[in-house]
Amino acid sequence: MMTDALRRAFPDAACTLDHEEPERLAVRGILSAQCTDKRVNITSAELFLRYKTMDDLLAADPCDVADIIKPCGLTKSKTAAVLDFADKYCNYWGHTVPDDPDVLMTCKGVGRKIANLIIGEIYGIPAIVVDTHCKRVSYRVGLTDNTDPDKVLTDLNKVIRDDDKIAFGHLAVELGRTYCKAQNPDCGNCPLNECCRKRV
Ligand code: SF4
Repeated sequence: MMTDALRRAFPDAACTLDHEEPERLAVRGILSAQCTDKRVNITSAELFLRYKTMDDLLAADPCDVADIIKPCGLTKSKTAAVLDFADKYCNYWGHTVPDDPDVLMTCKGVGRKIANLIIGEIYGIPAIVVDTHCKRVSYRVGLTDNTDPDKVLTDLNKVIRDDDKIAFGHLAVELGRTYCKAQNPDCGNCPLNECCRKRV
Protein backbone atom coordinates (compact mmCIF):
# COMPACT_ATOMS: atom_id res chain seq x y z
CA MET A 1 0.00 0.00 0.00
CA MET A 2 1.43 3.36 -1.04
CA THR A 3 0.40 5.12 2.14
CA ASP A 4 2.29 2.61 4.27
CA ALA A 5 5.43 3.14 2.20
CA LEU A 6 5.03 6.88 2.56
CA ARG A 7 4.53 6.60 6.32
CA ARG A 8 7.80 4.68 6.57
CA ALA A 9 9.60 7.25 4.44
CA PHE A 10 8.14 10.31 6.18
CA PRO A 11 7.29 9.29 9.76
CA ASP A 12 7.12 12.92 10.91
CA ALA A 13 4.83 14.21 8.16
CA ALA A 14 2.31 16.64 9.61
CA CYS A 15 0.51 19.87 8.93
CA THR A 16 3.16 22.55 8.50
CA LEU A 17 0.83 25.43 9.27
CA ASP A 18 0.89 26.44 12.93
CA HIS A 19 -2.40 25.28 14.40
CA GLU A 20 -2.51 25.98 18.09
CA GLU A 21 -6.11 27.28 17.97
CA PRO A 22 -8.86 26.23 15.54
CA GLU A 23 -9.86 29.71 14.44
CA ARG A 24 -6.25 30.68 13.87
CA LEU A 25 -5.68 27.60 11.75
CA ALA A 26 -8.68 28.61 9.64
CA VAL A 27 -7.23 32.09 9.11
CA ARG A 28 -3.86 30.58 8.22
CA GLY A 29 -5.59 28.29 5.76
CA ILE A 30 -7.14 31.31 4.07
CA LEU A 31 -3.75 33.04 3.93
CA SER A 32 -2.07 29.95 2.49
CA ALA A 33 -3.55 30.27 -1.01
CA GLN A 34 -0.61 30.54 -3.43
CA CYS A 35 1.76 31.16 -0.50
CA THR A 36 4.22 29.02 1.45
CA ASP A 37 3.28 27.71 4.89
CA LYS A 38 6.48 29.23 6.25
CA ARG A 39 5.49 32.70 5.10
CA VAL A 40 1.95 32.22 6.42
CA ASN A 41 3.25 31.21 9.86
CA ILE A 42 5.48 34.27 10.06
CA THR A 43 2.83 36.69 8.84
CA SER A 44 0.00 35.25 10.92
CA ALA A 45 2.15 35.45 14.05
CA GLU A 46 2.33 39.18 13.47
CA LEU A 47 -1.40 39.35 12.75
CA PHE A 48 -2.32 37.54 15.97
CA LEU A 49 0.13 39.58 18.01
CA ARG A 50 -1.83 42.65 16.97
CA TYR A 51 -5.31 41.05 17.01
CA LYS A 52 -5.50 38.42 19.71
CA THR A 53 -9.08 37.32 19.11
CA MET A 54 -11.44 37.08 16.16
CA ASP A 55 -13.47 39.87 17.78
CA ASP A 56 -10.36 42.05 17.70
CA LEU A 57 -9.85 41.16 14.08
CA LEU A 58 -13.45 41.91 13.20
CA ALA A 59 -13.12 45.37 14.75
CA ALA A 60 -9.87 46.10 12.93
CA ASP A 61 -9.41 48.66 10.21
CA PRO A 62 -9.25 46.55 7.01
CA CYS A 63 -6.35 48.67 5.75
CA ASP A 64 -4.29 47.72 8.81
CA VAL A 65 -5.10 44.03 8.30
CA ALA A 66 -4.15 44.35 4.63
CA ASP A 67 -0.82 45.93 5.54
CA ILE A 68 0.07 43.02 7.81
CA ILE A 69 -0.99 40.18 5.52
CA LYS A 70 0.47 41.75 2.36
CA PRO A 71 3.53 39.41 2.35
CA CYS A 72 1.15 36.48 1.74
CA GLY A 73 -0.02 37.99 -1.56
CA LEU A 74 -3.54 38.37 -2.98
CA THR A 75 -3.94 41.07 -0.35
CA LYS A 76 -7.35 42.41 -1.30
CA SER A 77 -9.12 39.07 -1.54
CA LYS A 78 -7.36 37.60 1.50
CA THR A 79 -8.21 40.64 3.63
CA ALA A 80 -11.86 40.30 2.63
CA ALA A 81 -11.77 36.56 3.35
CA VAL A 82 -10.10 36.89 6.75
CA LEU A 83 -12.62 39.53 7.82
CA ASP A 84 -15.50 37.44 6.46
CA PHE A 85 -14.27 34.50 8.51
CA ALA A 86 -14.04 36.69 11.63
CA ASP A 87 -17.60 37.91 10.99
CA LYS A 88 -19.02 34.42 10.57
CA TYR A 89 -17.05 33.05 13.53
CA CYS A 90 -18.18 35.84 15.87
CA ASN A 91 -21.68 36.60 14.61
CA TYR A 92 -23.03 33.39 13.08
CA TRP A 93 -21.07 30.38 14.31
CA GLY A 94 -21.11 31.07 18.04
CA HIS A 95 -17.36 31.56 18.32
CA THR A 96 -16.69 28.05 17.06
CA VAL A 97 -15.24 26.65 13.86
CA PRO A 98 -17.88 24.48 12.15
CA ASP A 99 -17.03 20.83 11.46
CA ASP A 100 -19.13 20.82 8.28
CA PRO A 101 -17.07 21.60 5.15
CA ASP A 102 -20.13 22.90 3.31
CA VAL A 103 -20.71 25.46 6.07
CA LEU A 104 -17.05 26.41 6.11
CA MET A 105 -17.13 26.92 2.36
CA THR A 106 -19.74 29.66 2.74
CA CYS A 107 -16.81 31.78 3.93
CA LYS A 108 -14.89 33.74 1.34
CA GLY A 109 -11.54 32.19 0.53
CA VAL A 110 -12.45 28.76 1.88
CA GLY A 111 -12.68 26.06 -0.77
CA ARG A 112 -12.73 22.30 -0.41
CA LYS A 113 -8.98 22.10 0.20
CA ILE A 114 -9.00 24.48 3.15
CA ALA A 115 -12.28 23.11 4.51
CA ASN A 116 -10.81 19.61 4.52
CA LEU A 117 -7.64 20.87 6.18
CA ILE A 118 -9.70 22.48 8.93
CA ILE A 119 -12.00 19.53 9.70
CA GLY A 120 -9.11 17.08 9.54
CA GLU A 121 -6.68 18.97 11.75
CA ILE A 122 -9.21 20.29 14.24
CA TYR A 123 -11.77 17.52 14.46
CA GLY A 124 -9.90 14.49 13.14
CA ILE A 125 -12.56 13.94 10.50
CA PRO A 126 -11.14 11.83 7.64
CA ALA A 127 -10.57 14.29 4.81
CA ILE A 128 -7.91 14.54 2.14
CA VAL A 129 -6.30 17.90 1.39
CA VAL A 130 -5.68 18.01 -2.34
CA ASP A 131 -3.08 20.70 -2.84
CA THR A 132 -0.77 21.10 -5.81
CA HIS A 133 1.65 18.40 -4.54
CA CYS A 134 -1.11 15.92 -3.74
CA LYS A 135 -2.70 16.49 -7.12
CA ARG A 136 0.56 15.98 -9.04
CA VAL A 137 1.75 12.99 -7.05
CA SER A 138 -1.62 11.24 -7.15
CA TYR A 139 -1.73 11.50 -10.91
CA ARG A 140 1.84 10.35 -11.43
CA VAL A 141 1.57 7.30 -9.23
CA GLY A 142 -1.72 6.30 -10.83
CA LEU A 143 -4.22 6.90 -8.04
CA THR A 144 -6.24 9.13 -10.35
CA ASP A 145 -6.52 9.86 -14.05
CA ASN A 146 -7.73 13.37 -13.35
CA THR A 147 -5.99 16.67 -12.73
CA ASP A 148 -8.97 18.71 -11.57
CA PRO A 149 -8.69 18.89 -7.75
CA ASP A 150 -12.34 18.00 -7.10
CA LYS A 151 -12.14 14.97 -9.36
CA VAL A 152 -8.82 13.95 -7.84
CA LEU A 153 -10.43 14.13 -4.40
CA THR A 154 -13.33 11.96 -5.54
CA ASP A 155 -10.90 9.37 -6.91
CA LEU A 156 -8.69 9.41 -3.81
CA ASN A 157 -11.67 9.03 -1.51
CA LYS A 158 -12.37 5.70 -3.21
CA VAL A 159 -8.90 4.26 -2.69
CA ILE A 160 -7.50 5.85 0.47
CA ARG A 161 -8.73 4.32 3.73
CA ASP A 162 -10.45 6.67 6.16
CA ASP A 163 -7.66 6.05 8.69
CA ASP A 164 -5.13 7.33 6.18
CA LYS A 165 -6.97 10.29 4.71
CA ILE A 166 -5.60 13.05 6.94
CA ALA A 167 -2.06 11.69 6.79
CA PHE A 168 -2.17 11.12 3.04
CA GLY A 169 -2.31 14.83 2.26
CA HIS A 170 0.70 15.54 4.47
CA LEU A 171 2.61 12.56 3.06
CA ALA A 172 1.91 13.63 -0.51
CA VAL A 173 3.27 17.09 0.28
CA GLU A 174 6.46 15.57 1.69
CA LEU A 175 6.85 13.32 -1.33
CA GLY A 176 6.21 16.22 -3.70
CA ARG A 177 8.75 18.43 -1.97
CA THR A 178 11.52 15.86 -1.77
CA TYR A 179 11.34 13.29 -4.59
CA CYS A 180 8.35 13.92 -6.81
CA LYS A 181 9.07 17.55 -7.63
CA ALA A 182 7.24 19.20 -10.49
CA GLN A 183 10.50 19.31 -12.47
CA ASN A 184 13.00 16.45 -12.56
CA PRO A 185 11.41 13.93 -10.17
CA ASP A 186 13.96 11.72 -8.43
CA CYS A 187 12.33 8.38 -9.23
CA GLY A 188 15.51 6.40 -8.55
CA ASN A 189 15.50 7.26 -4.87
CA CYS A 190 11.75 7.62 -4.40
CA PRO A 191 10.07 5.34 -1.82
CA LEU A 192 7.30 4.65 -4.35
CA ASN A 193 9.68 3.65 -7.13
CA GLU A 194 8.50 0.03 -7.16
CA CYS A 195 4.76 0.73 -7.31
CA CYS A 196 4.50 4.03 -9.20
CA ARG A 197 3.25 4.33 -12.78
CA LYS A 198 5.64 7.27 -13.26
CA ARG A 199 3.34 9.33 -15.43
CA VAL A 200 5.70 12.29 -15.59
S1 SF4 B 1 8.57 7.16 -8.64
FE1 SF4 B 1 8.93 9.15 -9.64
S2 SF4 B 1 6.94 9.78 -10.47
FE2 SF4 B 1 6.57 8.15 -8.97
S3 SF4 B 1 6.14 9.24 -7.06
FE3 SF4 B 1 8.32 8.76 -7.08
S4 SF4 B 1 9.32 10.57 -7.95
FE4 SF4 B 1 7.12 10.69 -8.45
